[in-house]
Amino acid sequence: MRLGVLTSGGDAPGMNAAIRAVVRQADALGHEVWGIHRGYQGLLEGDMAPMPSRACANILQRGGTVLHTARCAEFHQTEQRALAAAKLKAAGIEALVVIGGDGSFRAAEALQREHGVACAGIPGTIDNDLPGTERTLGFDTALNTAVEAIDRIRDTASSHGRLFLVEVMGRSSGMLAVHTALACGAEAVLYPESPEDSYENLVSQLNANWLRGKRSSIVVVAEGDTVGRAVAVGERLKLDHSLDLRVVVLGHVQRGGSPTAIDRIWGSRWGCEVVRRLDRGERGFYVGEVAGALVAQPLARILEPQPAPPGDLGRLVSVLAR
Ligand code: ADP
Repeated sequence: MRLGVLTSGGDAPGMNAAIRAVVRQADALGHEVWGIHRGYQGLLEGDMAPMPSRACANILQRGGTVLHTARCAEFHQTEQRALAAAKLKAAGIEALVVIGGDGSFRAAEALQREHGVACAGIPGTIDNDLPGTERTLGFDTALNTAVEAIDRIRDTASSHGRLFLVEVMGRSSGMLAVHTALACGAEAVLYPESPEDSYENLVSQLNANWLRGKRSSIVVVAEGDTVGRAVAVGERLKLDHSLDLRVVVLGHVQRGGSPTAIDRIWGSRWGCEVVRRLDRGERGFYVGEVAGALVAQPLARILEPQPAPPGDLGRLVSVLAR
């Protein structure tokens, strides 16, 4: 069997571990893998080439994706997806492994449902916002990067007795923000799924901390928060309370870097698992992790609502900030 593999959407550390595992497990089972460059954009352009085992040397520990990635607006059109199916057929590719996030899986789901392309998904996004899995590749690495950065900010915040607002990525999900806040002992966290997500609550939390004698505070702000982005919230606090605060937007720093051991291990396990399942004739699924176990579920599950962070985490942040 000839398999295609692509990475799509936002790059995430651990994608290379998954690519390597797909290629090498396929090789071990007597299958061939073609690498498709730049996600669905490259697929539409026929930008693909055979990917032998040796092409995966020394990529396990590298961030980003050696197949490159892209966003491809045309892929929302069914005629373009038909073209993609034709490209795969012409190249003799019988099944497509998609490594990406929510949008990439929705595209794979449509490609299989409409045009009969056998697809399998490996979760790769720093946002950790997919239904049916508690983990996605890149989340653990991005979390550790954000925590390390905030530990550094903490030193200067406490030296000056200053308030810092630190914005972390996550698109519409607060998963990365709330986990980062808990891991770095933030004084408050703003994230969209929080039941207490309001400007007024933030001000009263900061006031309470001040009255308890805290002279410096770190507030983690999810980029998708409904109160506003860190810069806007900072401006409002300055205007209303004349605070000497600083804003840091961590931005793309969180996407890069060498994947953690956890992301390498899950990239490797998931890459092997999808190939073994395709080898057994399974189609239209994506892999995940639930309660520590490797799971697989129908691709259509991606259409379910995005999971919210565990409800108690935001509350723990404020309890532990006392
Ligand atoms: P991620 O996979 O990280 O969530 P995006 O949401 O940007 O990233 O999706 C990656 C690509 O998948 C898009 O650029 C587009 O080509 C394709 N895509 C996303 N959503 C859909 C959809 N609903 N239907 C078809 N293709 C989609």
